[in-house]
Amino acid sequence: MVTKSITLKDVKINYIVIYKNKKNISIKINGNKELYVYAPIGISYDYIEELIKSKENWIIKNINKIHENNLNDETYIIYRGKKFLKIVEESIIDKIVVKDDLIIIRTKNTDLHYVDYLIKKWYLENANNVILNRVNTLSSKYNLLPSKVLIRNQKSRWGSCNSRKEIRLNWRLVLMPDYVMDYIIIHELCHLKHMNHSNSFWSLVYKLAPDFQVSKEWLKENGLSILQVN
Ligand SMILES: [Zn+2]
Repeated sequence: MVTKSITLKDVKINYIVIYKNKKNISIKINGNKELYVYAPIGISYDYIEELIKSKENWIIKNINKIHENNLNDETYIIYRGKKFLKIVEESIIDKIVVKDDLIIIRTKNTDLHYVDYLIKKWYLENANNVILNRVNTLSSKYNLLPSKVLIRNQKSRWGSCNSRKEIRLNWRLVLMPDYVMDYIIIHELCHLKHMNHSNSFWSLVYKLAPDFQVSKEWLKENGLSILQVN
């Protein structure tokens, strides 16, 4: 495997030729804006360069797309109130790994839409685990037991509780610091006792969530942008 380079429309582009026992030549662009050329054994570099030049427009267009997508630019992922630098890496399987202050998305397809889909899937899986876990802990601690807890994609609210004692919580709670998540869960759990926003309701909330003031402040500052995460 040799890395060579070629200049297309004043842009220097690295390409790697991989010889394979196959009939056709194919070109792939990776997240680092390099070309991978898969070619039948015996095809000359001259021939490959000619082929790359003939596909110049397509290559430049797709490399610019990677640039626009800011694939590995300073893009962050918010998770449990912390900011993680998003890293996208080519891999043979799809897997998301949290390591220190990085969230590494290993994927077989570095296309931005596919990466977004993987992140969303990862968020939802974690939302289910983390939020339900917290609800269990808090509801048994305070003996406020819902009949059902559902994680939902709510566009304008964090949670709700109905007269059947079912609690619905927004999956975006997993983006918040844990104490804010707790505050919202406690709010809904308190509705199991008081189906309103009366003074007795609020005094129960404040008793069970003593740092409510900080949580309210956090929500005032960040709530709107969290709701916009899709
Ligand atoms: Zn309420």
